Amino acid sequence: MVKAKKYVVKKYFEGVPKRSDFELVEYELPPLKDGEVLVKTEWVSVDPYLRAYNRNVPVPYDQYGFQVGIVEQSNDTNYPVGARIVTHKGWCDYTVVNTSKVSTGNSTEVTYKLPDLKGMSPSIGIGAVGMPGITAYFGFLELCQPKIGETVVVTGAAGAVGSIVGQIAKIKGCKVIGFAGSDDKVKWLEKELGFDKAINYKTADVQKALQAAAPNGVDCYFDNVGGEISSIIMGQMNKRGRVSVCGSISAYNADPTQIPKATILQPSIVFKELRIEGFVVQRWLDRWPEAITQLITWIKMGQLKPAEHVTVGFDKIFDAFVGMLAGENTGKAVVKI
Ligand code: NDP
Repeated sequence: MVKAKKYVVKKYFEGVPKRSDFELVEYELPPLKDGEVLVKTEWVSVDPYLRAYNRNVPVPYDQYGFQVGIVEQSNDTNYPVGARIVTHKGWCDYTVVNTSKVSTGNSTEVTYKLPDLKGMSPSIGIGAVGMPGITAYFGFLELCQPKIGETVVVTGAAGAVGSIVGQIAKIKGCKVIGFAGSDDKVKWLEKELGFDKAINYKTADVQKALQAAAPNGVDCYFDNVGGEISSIIMGQMNKRGRVSVCGSISAYNADPTQIPKATILQPSIVFKELRIEGFVVQRWLDRWPEAITQLITWIKMGQLKPAEHVTVGFDKIFDAFVGMLAGENTGKAVVKI
């Protein structure tokens, strides 16, 4: 019998999630059945959607999420002992995975072998070449359809998705402007990632700073945060601009009955003939391998930097989660178990 630990969400979050909303449960895993493997968790991902989707599932529920683990016992020759595997089994130290449930289009069932990362840390498999990198790849390229020389704006620019969007936009020959929440992040985006301009949205006059950075207007906007900053950005878009709506983290901790209001957008949408489209990355699940291959190639060619913010320890997953929501991370927030 293998003893395992997992985080169970026992109460719906109100405002910022609290440690007392979770319970740490120790239990014994059942013996493996045919087609099952025992996976020891190595890296756990903490993501904004774990906050945003909290009320979509009845409590109590096991805290799901992407993770990378190593197969310790196997009843499936396709996943031998020692193989690394990406699953959606979340915040646990050991888990049993039924490998026949592979990539069905439901995020809770996403299971696949960690691709050959050519010597990079397995954690990259849940970051720059995992769900967040794939989100950046399809969400930006498919919905924004960027052209050489166009001006691209990305919010949440120093995070897991945003930092990849900005770098892909540079690869595609665009001018890139990023918004992030600290001077250190702004410096990092400009000096390390090659953004043409980065702006601290907490201290700048967003309207004026964007006018100065993009005097000819914005062609593509990748929206990670929503709210008033997005209204300001969309108000400065060019004719036939494209907006990819990826997330709205500025309101994830808000009281669902008191969602903040943002300026009316219809005049910009009508007169500039904007195309605004939301997406969920599972839309392209059958094409994830294409994105993974391209992202690995860009990293290996030195065109894409896969930044990570690493927290160490199973007991620290909750802290890493609320730290990410508060903006402590630069790059992808991951936990080493
Ligand atoms: P990040 O790594 O960007 O981490 C979250 C960041 O959000 C923080 O670091 C913080 O950075 C920023 N933030 C927190 N509060 C606010 C606020 N009030 N206003 C503006 N920024 C804030 O997370 P991800 O890259 O994983 O996710 C980014 C977005 O993409 C989220 O909205 C997420 O839900 C969405 N997403 C959507 C997917 C889809 O399929 N549609 C898939 C994956 C992610 P700062 O210091 O800059 O404030």
